[in-house]
Amino acid sequence: MILRRVEELRTLARGWKREGVVGLVPTMGALHAGHLSLVRAAKAGADRVIVTIFVNPRQFNSPADLEKYPRTEAADAALLAPLGVDAIFIPAPEEVYPPGFATEVTVQGVALPLEGALRPGHFAGVATVVTKLFGMTQADRAWFGEKDWQQLQVIRRMVADLNLPVEVLGVPTLRDPDGLAMSSRNARLSPEARAAAPALYAWMQRMAAGETGAEAGLLAAGFERVEYLAFHDAETLGPPRPGRPRRLLAAAWIGGVRLIDNIAA
Ligand code: AMP
Repeated sequence: MILRRVEELRTLARGWKREGVVGLVPTMGALHAGHLSLVRAAKAGADRVIVTIFVNPRQFNSPADLEKYPRTEAADAALLAPLGVDAIFIPAPEEVYPPGFATEVTVQGVALPLEGALRPGHFAGVATVVTKLFGMTQADRAWFGEKDWQQLQVIRRMVADLNLPVEVLGVPTLRDPDGLAMSSRNARLSPEARAAAPALYAWMQRMAAGETGAEAGLLAAGFERVEYLAFHDAETLGPPRPGRPRRLLAAAWIGGVRLIDNIAA
């Protein structure tokens, strides 16, 4: 069932919540197998599953990127149909941000470095829309991909700080057989760039194993630019500290497409 109005969604979700656990999988559409693994996890962990498809203008810091973002609603609905999703919520931007909208959720700390520094306003856009989706659905549990590791930590922090009554669950990154993390943006890679792109994950694994020269290796493999490639504290995204879990996080450009990835390290 496809819903487009907040009021319809609220009414349905309210009924479902009385009967059992309501699960939420927020997406921006252009669905691939990575998204579907979140939906499968949600189906296993909730009685009712709501998938939202909303290309959230507030989390794009470049109008061109927002414009270029793929929109494939019919294909998305076809991919979700066999999974037994209870509702697909596809609102228009005006439905989510009606005239007079004046509230923003901003997270400090974990949201400041890396993506937060390079994409000003991005995490405020994410935190605001995710808070709204939690409010609209009253979801008991919500699933997010580890692919966007910093986003997952930002949402965990926000949920803890605001005492939001939702359990946040992370799902491991799904990769193509050659190691490239699945992403809606991969569709924009030229054949040459797509062939070279797995070097990112390969070099991250070598770096996690102690090898040096990853950045030079990526440039030699055809990447134009490495924005960051470094170890961080896995939860706070601050500098790594002895005795605490680390994460290796990367953002790099190839063929005019910005790829991000991360692994435990
Ligand atoms: P997006 O549509 O890109 O905003 O992603 C929606 C959700 O799917 C986010 O929680 C992402 O982290 C997650 N996701 C995207 N790509 C992958 C992937 N390759 N593996 C697992 N989860 C993913």
